[in-house]
Parts: sequence; C-alpha cells; structure tokens
Amino acid sequence: MGGTFDPVHHGHLVAASEVAERFALDEVVFVPTGEPYQKREHLVSPAEDRYLMTVIATASNPRFSVSRVDIDRVGPTYTVDTLRDLRAQHPDAELYFITGADALAAILSWHRVEDLFDLAHFVGVTRPGFELEADHLGDLRPGALDLVEIPALAISSTECRTRAAEGRPVWYLVPDGVVQYISKRDLYRPADAPRPDGT
Ligand code: ATP
Ligand code: MG
Repeated sequence: MGGTFDPVHHGHLVAASEVAERFALDEVVFVPTGEPYQKREHLVSPAEDRYLMTVIATASNPRFSVSRVDIDRVGPTYTVDTLRDLRAQHPDAELYFITGADALAAILSWHRVEDLFDLAHFVGVTRPGFELEADHLGDLRPGALDLVEIPALAISSTECRTRAAEGRPVWYLVPDGVVQYISKRDLYRPADAPRPDGT
C-alpha cells in the first residue's frame, strides 16, 4: 500500500486490514512516497518523519511492515518503480497493490497502465467522498482489479494536518503514538505560531 502517509491515519490502517483479510494476504507492506522535488499544493513532511510515523502506526500488527524503497530512491515516486523494486525484493511473492478510490482513478489514467497490471493485482477500496467513474474501469483486462467495500472512515491526512496546525485534536483519527510523534516533532504547526511552551 503506497501513500504519502503525512500522517498515516486509521483510514489507511482499516483499508490495509480489510484487504489483508479479504485476500488472505501474508503481509501488508506500507510504502511511504519519496520526497517530492517541488512543493505541490503543500509542503510534504520529511520522508523520515512520515516513515517513522508509519512504523509507529503499524508496529503492533505482526502482518504489517514498512518499506523504504520509495524513500531511498531518488526522484518523484511512480507506482511502476515501487512495484518493480518490491518484485525484486520478493521475487516469489504475488503482489497486490492497495489503493483508495481517489488514488486509483489517478493510477488508471496512466498511459501504460497495462504495465502495472503485469506487476501486481490492484485492489481499490471505497473511500467516503470519492466515487470511481465507471469509464475508468471500462476496458481493463479481466481480473486485473478488484473493488472492495470497506468500513467508511471519512479521515484524510489533509484534515489531520489542518487540525494539528489549528491546535485541534487528532486523537482517534490517527494512532496514539502518531499523535505523540506529531506533537514531539511539531510537524504541522505553522512557522509563525507560538510553541506550546510560549516561545
Ligand atoms: P492527503 O489528504 O494528504 O492526500 P490521504 O488521507 O489521501 O492524504 P494518502 O497518503 O494520500 O492519504 O493515501 C494513501 C492511500 O490510502 C491512497 O490510496 C488513498 O486513496 C488511501 N486512503 C486514504 N485515506 C483513506 C480512507 N479514509 N479510506 C480509504 N482509503 C483511504
Ligand atoms: Mg491522498
């Protein structure tokens, strides 16, 4: 399961857990994206912070792990590179790529999407607020993609960052250890905001 994980939240964890159960997966590997060259609509937190939050969030589940392939590769992250690196590390594994409805639409608009389906089976999970357009799914090869309905959690990392920046709670949206990590590293506090100690 790829993602920016800035921060990782319970929507990610439920998606991973549901798909693992549905397809009897041995392991779910969370793959935080590399550091983008340019800031897009917002400044993405350092890769090491996103990696550590993902490790903290997944530590208690023996079937969850975190991979550094995208963080350690230079340049922007493309799913095709992620899958090729994972395939090289696990040559005998049957790979599944787990993605939410919004991210799936972006992946399916890739011009060489068939290359992706050679590397992994794709699983799209439902996400509140995002409908999958039927025309995205029209001419896919049979069996390349499964859509899975999961318990709806209307949580996004964007909302978690906004809340943290405004000093509002992120408790219960992200795992407890991630709440503490965000606060310890002051991750989403605007540069001009007073620190909790008043400085
Ligand atoms: P941001 O708001 O920064 O885009 P995000 O919440 O969308 O963050 P990402 O790291 O972008 O999180 O998402 C990683 C993957 O998890 C994507 O495939 C995304 O569609 C999926 N995902 C994220 N949140 C949910 C959710 N609440 N339910 C289902 N899937 C989700
Ligand atoms: Mg997203």
